[in-house]
Amino acid sequence: DLDPLNTVAIEVVADAGARVLPRSPGLPDAYFDNDGQITKREIRAVTLAKLAPRHGELLWDVGAGTGSIAVEWMLADPANRAVAIEPRPDRTARIARNAAAFGVPDLVIVEGWAPAALTGLPTPDAIFLGGGGCDAELIDLCRTQLAPGGRLVANAVTLETQAEVFAHHARLGGELVQISIARAAPLGSFRGFRPAMPIVQWCWEK
Ligand code: SAH
Repeated sequence: DLDPLNTVAIEVVADAGARVLPRSPGLPDAYFDNDGQITKREIRAVTLAKLAPRHGELLWDVGAGTGSIAVEWMLADPANRAVAIEPRPDRTARIARNAAAFGVPDLVIVEGWAPAALTGLPTPDAIFLGGGGCDAELIDLCRTQLAPGGRLVANAVTLETQAEVFAHHARLGGELVQISIARAAPLGSFRGFRPAMPIVQWCWEK
């Protein structure tokens, strides 16, 4: 029998190896099981800001890779939901591992290619296009499917995808930014900034 008046205080000692997650997006890349193809933390933080998760909203993460964007979307609010769309089986398995490790097991993973894999998914409040191409057919499908007030964010690394994004911006407006990150790294016995490939980010609101 538990006597509520005869309680014993148990000290909770934090595990020295425990990972304490901050509340803000842009978690270190190394926290995610990844093969190098991951939206880098600074770019990820800006991307989450543009996706702008609100309580209970649904994200489509198209070309999810490690699932880092979907995971951070879900971490933003326990009520948030996300669908990760990714064709490579090794990567969908990785997304499942990351979802479990971050405590967001409800992340829905769809193994398949956009745009075909998008049919029949529930209406999203935000869509992230992170590498699965960006042609006009896909963009128009996303614009149709988005809920009113929904956000579409496309990150383009290659010149080909950037050219597509420029055309969408000219046709549809929205916000177009270029983001360059350089990280200090050893250079012989000195240090230098090693630039990452710049990305072009197009954001459109319905
Ligand atoms: N944002 C991810 C990285 C994306 S890399 C992260 O942070 O982990 C781009 C991904 O798009 C790759 O995993 C690739 O397999 C996937 N991809 C390529 N073409 C696609 C398509 N047509 N539909 C869906 N995913 C696609």
